[in-house]
Formats: sequence, C-alpha cells, structure tokens
Amino acid sequence: MISVHLGLDDTDSNEGMCTTYLTTIILQRILKEKISMIDYPNLIRLNPNIPWKTRGNAALCLRLRTDNPNKIFKIAKNSLIKYSESRKGKANSGLIMLCSEQIPTEIKNFSKRCLYESVKISELKKIIKSHQIEYFGQGTKRGLIGALAAIGNTLSSDHTYELIGYRKNNNGERGVSLTSVIKMDNCTGLSTFNNIDYNNYRVLITPHGKDPICFAIRGNNSSGVYKAMTMLELYEPIERFAIFRTNQGTNEHLKNELNLNQLKSFQSGYTNGIINKKPITKRGGHVFLEIKSKNIIMNCAVYSPSITLKKTARKLEKGDSIEIGGGIRKKSKKYNRILNVEYIKINNLVQKTKIKNPICKKCKKTMKSIGQEKGFRCKKCSVKTKKSEIHAIKREIKTGLYLPIPSSQRHLTKPNNRYGKENYKTKNKPKGTWFKVF
Ligand code: ATP
Repeated sequence: MISVHLGLDDTDSNEGMCTTYLTTIILQRILKEKISMIDYPNLIRLNPNIPWKTRGNAALCLRLRTDNPNKIFKIAKNSLIKYSESRKGKANSGLIMLCSEQIPTEIKNFSKRCLYESVKISELKKIIKSHQIEYFGQGTKRGLIGALAAIGNTLSSDHTYELIGYRKNNNGERGVSLTSVIKMDNCTGLSTFNNIDYNNYRVLITPHGKDPICFAIRGNNSSGVYKAMTMLELYEPIERFAIFRTNQGTNEHLKNELNLNQLKSFQSGYTNGIINKKPITKRGGHVFLEIKSKNIIMNCAVYSPSITLKKTARKLEKGDSIEIGGGIRKKSKKYNRILNVEYIKINNLVQKTKIKNPICKKCKKTMKSIGQEKGFRCKKCSVKTKKSEIHAIKREIKTGLYLPIPSSQRHLTKPNNRYGKENYKTKNKPKGTWFKVF
C-alpha cells in the first residue's frame, strides 16, 4: 500500500455546496474500497485576507493508504464533476493527488506561504511539474492552489478538531436549540471553544448561508467534539457528520513577522511597535492607530464590531509598546495600505501624568496659581511655592493580550481559552466514531 494525499478546494459558491461536504461524499465512496485512513480528514484554513474566498478560505485533504491510487483519484474527480459548483460555472475547483510517504519540503513551504500571502497560479504550476502529481481543475483552476496547500499542511504543530453535522433538508433556519448549545457549552468546558458569544448571545456553531452545514463544533480533541454533539437538541434531521482535524483556533496565519519595508497586499502576520500618537476614533466607531517600528510608520485599523479590541485600542497612548497581528488591506485611491488588526498584545504601558496645583503643607489646602510661571500661594496662610505637583494617572488598560469578541473572530483566531491548552499530539489515525452517514 502507498500513501496518498488528496487535496481539494473551491467547490462551493454563495448559492450552495461546501468543500467539507464534498469531501465527505468522496470519503463515503472511497471507504468502500480497500483503504486505510492515515489521518482524520484535514480542514486547512488558508490566508483569510485574500479577496477571492467564498467564506472562510478552507481547503481540504484526505490522507490514506491504498494499493490503487488511480481508482481513488477517479472517484474523487467524478464526485467533483457531479457536485462541485463548477458545474454551474460558479466555482473554480481543484483536485490534486500526491502519492508519497513524506510531503516534499517545497510543497510544505508553498502551503506556509498560502497562509501568509497571496500566491500566483504560475508558482503552483512549477511545483506540479516538478513532482509526481495528478491533478484536475475546473474553470480558472484556482482551486488547485488551495488543494496543494491543504496537502502541504500536515498539522504537525498545534491543531484542533471540528465536528460538522450536515442537514438533510437545505432550507430554513438551522434547527438547533439555543438552550442545548448553552448547556453543551457549560458541560464541555475547555474541550470545545467558541460555541456561543455571550456578549450578544449569538450561537456560533450554526452558519447562516445556503451551505449544507447544520452545526459545526470546534474543540481541542475529537472525543470532546463528539460528546458535545450528543448534547445538542435538534429540530431537524441530520444526514451525516464527520470529524475533521484542523488548524482553526491556532493563529497559524499570524506566526509570520511582517517586514514593514516590503509589505504586500493581503499579507497576514504580526509586528511589534510603539504607538506613535493618540489613536483616533472615526465615524462608525472604528479606531485608527499609528505604530512606529524601526522608524517606519504603519497605519492600523480596529473595526467597530470587534467591540473588546476597539475599546482597548481607544485607550492606548503615545509611547505604549505593543505587538499587533492582522492582515494588510489593499491600497486604494482613497486609502493607503493599512493593517486590519486581529489582536493586540500590550507589552508595556507608558506612565500617564497630570500636573496639579500643590497642597499647602501647613493648611492642607490646594494652593492657587499667582500667574504663569510665577508659582502658587496658599489662600489661607499666604505661603508661596514655585513647584507644582505631578500626579500619576491610573491607566484604564493593562498589559496582556486583547482579542475581538468571539463572533468577530476569524476561524484561525486562537481564542483566549486555548492559550496554554495547545495540542501537539502526533497520533492522528482516526479513532471512535468520526464519520457516519445516516
Ligand atoms: P469555503 O470556506 O466555503 O470552502 P472558501 O472561502 O474556501 O470557501 P473558495 O471558494 O475555496 O473559498 O475560494 C478560495 C480560492 O482562493 C481558492 O481557489 C483557493 O485555491 C484560492 N486561495 C486560497 N489561498 C490562497 C492564497 N494564499 N493565494 C492565492 N489563492 C489562494
């Protein structure tokens, strides 16, 4: 048996389908063949700042062992042709098969770049030519980029899990009881994350689009997300579910240090700097910051729906030292290049001071000014002094990490409760009930 890595992407549109669902269709079919799965299906989120994504820039990869890779590829290709939105001209699907025990470094590096930058189809073509790769693309074939990037990310570092339940009938609101989500959230503790946003009571496990997903539960381990599913009360039938291993909730796209001298549109990453002037709040509540790093000034925007992040940004002062992560917005005629902020880590706060009139040592009363630079006099005993008093003002923020509220976080954002709970386990063979069609 040989190891096969099957990557796919760009099979959906705003009108329907979802690449995770199409992956489960392929799974259902190939599990009837003589194969053994090496890993859970991998759900890889790529650079969230590229403009041509449909929703969350997800790409998928199936890793398995088989004696007949050609048959596996044929099944996958036929499924793509039959179900992808490319058949309506609304997607640019890509499917790639790599047969290899190890993933070549060139493909791993390509995948990393797909997390941080915008890559060109020409770069992909070069790699395809120099490796034993089988591929199939539809439309512009842009989906091949994500397909290869999914193969190249083996989730060998911090990773999480997502259990996705798919609906039988693709219409109407998702039939998941809010109270059962709250109960599940309370019971599963740290094994799941971002089930609900208590700032606005928004349920985060149910999407709103025309895709076939009923609910998607994220967590630190596969048993945790499975247990969470059993706690949900559903008002609609589920057709199937699958557990994916993923880079969601890991901040993987922000591990790259931005070079402020060579910024490119749609890049993701982080930088350290000093607040250059008091942040300003513009119409709509958006906050604009200027940070200085190695003598370069970078404009940053913290948008209003981030709530907690926006409130923190407003309280920053000139001289504060911060680390900031996010994506580079494209330059336009009206706006310069700007960093859209996804997190702020305050490393150091400057001491803010206020100059006050001194207190008379004898009478304990506040002294009055006798004129500019002339000093102060006590009204009661007439004693004079030149010295004013400098008082420290308590800062309203503390050093530490600040994120947007959960409903404004990206799929890749590492939520607060995952810090210190990273998952580096390397045994990836699926166990328990990880995939079922009802
Ligand atoms: P969903 O999350 O619902 O699966 P999506 O948001 O993943 O949808 P796609 O329809 O897959 O969006 O479109 C994203 C497209 O961008 C794909 O064709 C993918 O190959 C391509 N792509 C992904 N990352 C990059 C990148 N870093 N540079 C260039 N192209 C990319």
